[in-house]
Amino acid sequence: SKAKLFDKNTDVKASFKDVAGLQGAKEEVQEIVDFLKTPEKYTALGGKIPKGALLVGPPGTGKTLLAKAVAGEAKVPFYSLSGSDFVEMFVGVGASRVRDLFKQAKEKSPSIIFIDEIDAIGRARGKSNLGGSNDERENTLNQLLTEMDGFGTNTNVIVIGATNRADVLDKALMRAGRFDRQIYVDLPDIRERKEIFEVHLRPLKKVADELDTEFLAKQTPGFSGADIANVCNEAALIAARKGNKAVGKQDFLDAVDRIVGGLEKKNKIIT
Ligand code: ATP
Repeated sequence: SKAKLFDKNTDVKASFKDVAGLQGAKEEVQEIVDFLKTPEKYTALGGKIPKGALLVGPPGTGKTLLAKAVAGEAKVPFYSLSGSDFVEMFVGVGASRVRDLFKQAKEKSPSIIFIDEIDAIGRARGKSNLGGSNDERENTLNQLLTEMDGFGTNTNVIVIGATNRADVLDKALMRAGRFDRQIYVDLPDIRERKEIFEVHLRPLKKVADELDTEFLAKQTPGFSGADIANVCNEAALIAARKGNKAVGKQDFLDAVDRIVGGLEKKNKIIT
């Protein structure tokens, strides 16, 4: 397939302001920003800067957004790949992609490498999974471990992995000196959903005066940040189709219904 394997040197514009809620996770990743910006401050007493951190949480909760915001805040390049791109790859290709990615990130350090869906490569070795091609996945995983171990003390590349299945990951990935920090990124509570609505209402041209984000937060229990972004966009489309000049309460309720319908369908397919 022609899957894009990594975004080279993406100039990221994201900042912590784009990430609503997630106060605890933001505080934890702030440390990574500081490591990237002033490594000498941290290594002054002989301490070693961590090489990797794992963002763990359900789909759509802002893990990718948060990783990009770290790069944006630290003003460093962001190299990313997704574990799912490695499924069905020819023998040897996965490992060489990993090698290339690390080479580039090291040349441009300080930098961030982001590996989304790391469970697709990082499942415990020796356990077969559906569809075979296990050897290739293991080669890719081994290459990843080798690269992380090969970092010198002053490489200043930090690898951020994201997964919603930390339980299936190979324990070797979590060993000291690899992804030894885990940061939880949970579904938003009602107060956080309100904040996420505030972020995603901003791009809408006109919102009806009656609309309040507290009400919207109450209507959307269990929604992720990605679902909320989706609701705001759908509501704008629904209102525009009706020829309305502003996006109103009913448009949001219709959008919520539509997303709930979609979520129910998705769940039916899974179970
Ligand atoms: P996945 O596990 O499916 O890869 P993810 O956790 O990486 O998901 P993102 O891709 O970061 O989630 O989120 C998708 C989109 O949802 C973001 O680009 C953003 O528009 C919105 N979003 C998610 N969480 C938040 C948040 N906390 N604040 C603001 N927007 C959010």
